Amino acid sequence: MLRITDLSKKYSKSPDTVIRALDGVSLNIEAGEFVVVQGPSGSGKTTLLLAVGGLLPPSGGTVEFDGRKLYRMSQAERAKLRAREIGFVFQQFYLVSYLNVLDNVLTPSLALPDQQAQIRARELIEHFKLTDRIGHFPGELSTGERQRVGLARALLNRPRLLLADEPTGNLDQDNTRIVLGYFADFSRSGGTVLMVTHSPAAAEYAHRTVQLKEGKLVD
Ligand code: ADP
Ligand code: MG
Repeated sequence: MLRITDLSKKYSKSPDTVIRALDGVSLNIEAGEFVVVQGPSGSGKTTLLLAVGGLLPPSGGTVEFDGRKLYRMSQAERAKLRAREIGFVFQQFYLVSYLNVLDNVLTPSLALPDQQAQIRARELIEHFKLTDRIGHFPGELSTGERQRVGLARALLNRPRLLLADEPTGNLDQDNTRIVLGYFADFSRSGGTVLMVTHSPAAAEYAHRTVQLKEGKLVD
C-alpha cells in the first residue's frame, strides 16, 4: 500500500549549512501492517512521517500510496487523498482547547457536517471509552484521554493509513499500552500503521521495527 523509495530530504538554513534529514530511505509497507520506526532525537523521524503523509515535499525519491506517486499529484489532489485516506496522531495531541470532545473528534468533517459524521464520532468516542467525557474540554482531560480523543479524530474519516509521531511520548506506561493496543487493533482490522517512537514497548505491538539513524534506515 505504501512504497517509499530512496527518499531524501535536505534542509538548508543558509547556503553553507545543509542538513540531510533523510538520506536514501526505502521502505515498503503492506495493507494491515503495523510498522514502527525507532531512532534517536534528530534522526529524521518526524521528517519521514511528514514526507510520507504528503505534508513535506522531499528533495528526492518517491512516496507511492496504492501506486499513486504523492508528489506527482497536484496540491489539491494530495490534500484530498490526505483527508480521505490518512489519519495523523501527534505527541502533542493538537486538540482545539475551546471545543469539547465531540467537536474535536468532528473537526475533520467540520467543513461538511452531516449526520453520518455525528454517528461515526459517537461510535468512536464509545470505542475509546470517552462517552462520559463527551462534553468536556481538553483542559479537563487526562493526557491518556487526550490522546484517545486524538485517535478518535484521526479515525473519523475511516483512513486506511495512520501516521503517528511519538503518540505515547506524553503518556505513562499504562496509557502507553492502551494506546499501542488501539493501534494494533486498527492494523488487525486491515488498517496500516506507520509509527515513529522512542518507546521500547511499541516493538511488542508492531509487526516490524526498523531503526532510523542519521536519516538512514538500518536493520
Ligand atoms: P526527529 O523527529 O527524529 O527528532 P526530525 O525529522 O525532526 O528528527 O529532524 C531531523 C534533522 O533535521 C534534525 O537535525 C533537525 O534539526 C533537522 N530539521 C528538522 N526540521 C527542520 C527545518 N524545518 N529546518 C532545518 N532543519 C530541520
Ligand atoms: Mg520528531
